[in-house]
Amino acid sequence: MEAEQAGEARSTAGKVLLATVKGDVHDIGKNIVGVVLACNNYEVIDLGVMVPAQRILDTTRSENADIIGLSGLITPSLDEMVHVASELTRQGFETPLVIGGATTSRAHTAVKIAPAYAGTTVHVLDASRSVDVLNKLLGEGKDTYAADVAATYENVREQYAARDSAKQLISLDTARANRFTFDASEADIHKPWLSITKVFEDYPLGRILPRIDWSPFFIAWELKGRYPTIFNDPEVGAVARQLFDEAQSLLDQVVTEKLLTAKAVLGIYPANSAGDDILVYSDETRSEVCTVFHTLRQQTAKRAGQPNLALADYVAPAESGVADYIGGFVVSIHGAEALAAKYEAEHDDYNAILVKAVADRLAEAFAEHLHELVRKGWWGYAEGEDLSNDELVRERYRGVRPAPGYPAQPDHTEKPVLFDLLNASEAIGVTLTESNAMRPAASVSGLYLAHPAARYFAVGKLQRDQVADYAKRKGMSLAEAERWLAPNLGYTPEPRALTEA
Ligand code: SAH
Repeated sequence: MEAEQAGEARSTAGKVLLATVKGDVHDIGKNIVGVVLACNNYEVIDLGVMVPAQRILDTTRSENADIIGLSGLITPSLDEMVHVASELTRQGFETPLVIGGATTSRAHTAVKIAPAYAGTTVHVLDASRSVDVLNKLLGEGKDTYAADVAATYENVREQYAARDSAKQLISLDTARANRFTFDASEADIHKPWLSITKVFEDYPLGRILPRIDWSPFFIAWELKGRYPTIFNDPEVGAVARQLFDEAQSLLDQVVTEKLLTAKAVLGIYPANSAGDDILVYSDETRSEVCTVFHTLRQQTAKRAGQPNLALADYVAPAESGVADYIGGFVVSIHGAEALAAKYEAEHDDYNAILVKAVADRLAEAFAEHLHELVRKGWWGYAEGEDLSNDELVRERYRGVRPAPGYPAQPDHTEKPVLFDLLNASEAIGVTLTESNAMRPAASVSGLYLAHPAARYFAVGKLQRDQVADYAKRKGMSLAEAERWLAPNLGYTPEPRALTEA
C-alpha cells in the first residue's frame, strides 16, 4: 500500500461513484458509506438521490470511475437496480457494481442483478464492510476475488431455485376459504368522533419528542444493540453515547429554533370490506364508495387453525350489514433536506447525516403519537389505554397502522390511493416519486385498523392466480402488477422487454 502510494500509480485507493437510484430518496446509508470510503482514501463522487440510469453510466464514463455503488431503500428500487445493471451491460461497461441499502440482499443481488451484468456485482451488507469489499475489488487479487464472488452467487442462485420450487403455495380460492373470519362481537366497533380529515401544518415538535424510538437510530448508524442498554456495550457503548448526545443537542436546537416542521393529515372513514378489498364510503349513508383499498392474501400453506390473512379480513364485510371504519394518515418532517444541504455546504458531512437520521426518528415518533391520539381520542376505541413508550414501541396497543410497501401490503401503488383519499400532497406537501417513495424522505404513511385481533403480518410469496386477480381489481396489466410485486412473486413471470424495465 505504502509503496503504491509512494509510486506514481495512484494517489487515492480508487474512484467510487455513489447514487441512490431513480425513484428513491433515501440516502442516509449511502452517505455513511461515502464518509467511510472517503476516510479510507477513496475518492467519492456522490450523485445524490433519484439518479436515472443514464446519468450513472455517463458519469462513470466521464469520471472514469473504478466502482459504481448503487443504493436504495424501497422495494421498487430493486427493479431499478436490475435496470441499471442491464443498461451497463448493453452499453459495454464492466466497472464493478456494488449494491447496498435496506431492501437489498445477497440473494436478490445474486438472483436478479448479477445475471443482468457482464461485470462483477457484489452486495455489501453495511458501510463498515464496504471498504474491505472495495479493496478486494480493486486490489492485486481482484480477479480471484471476482471469481470467488461469481462462484458464491452461482451457489446462492442454485439454493434459491431449490428453495423456491420447494415452497408450498396454495391457490387463491383455497387461501380465501381459509380467511380470518370477521365476527362483529369480537370486533368491538366504535363509531369515531372524527368523521372528516384533520390537517396539522405545524405540529409542536415538543409533543413528539417523548415518542421517539431510539433503537432504529443506532441501526441507521450500523451500531448493534437496543436503546438504552446499547450504552453499556463494551464495543459500541461509548460511540452510541456520543451519537445520542449529539442527536439530543441537535434536537434541542431544532425545537428552539424551529428548524424542522411536523406536518400531518389523517382521516377516519366509514368502510366495509368486499372480498379482499376495503371500500371507503363518502359518508355514513354508505351509499357511495369514494376509494377502494386493495389488499393481498397470504398464500403459504398454513397449519390447522391458522388463517391465510389479508388486511381486508379485519374490516366488517359489506354483506354483514355491520357499520365499520378505517383510518389513514401521512406524517412528515419538513426541512431536513435543506438543513442537510446547509451542513454539506459547510463540509460538515456528519451533521448532514445526523439531521436526516433525527428527522426520520421524528417522523416515526409523530406517527406513534398521532396513532395514540387516534386510539384514545378521535376514534376513541382505546380511551383508557395507558402505555409506556417502551410498550408503544413493542406495539402493545389495540389495532395496527400498516404501511403500504411493508410486508402486510407490499404493493407501493396503494400509497397514491391513500394520498388521494387524504389529499396529502396538497394538504401537507408530501409527494410521491415514480417508485412511490415519499418526499420529504422523513415521512410515514399507513392505514389505521382497529380490530382487536389485527396484527402485522407478512403476505409473503404470491401465486400467479392472485397477482392476475389483483391486477384486474386494480385495473392494471398483469405485467405491471408483477413489476410492483416483484419481490413477492412465488413464480417466474413471463419475461418483459428491456424497455419496460
Ligand atoms: N418504532 C419504530 C416504528 C417503525 S416500524 C420506529 O420508530 O422506527 C413499525 C411500523 O412499520 C408500523 O407502525 C407499521 O406502520 C409498519 N409495519 C411494520 N411491520 C409491518 C407489516 N408487516 N405490514 C405493514 N406495516 C408494517
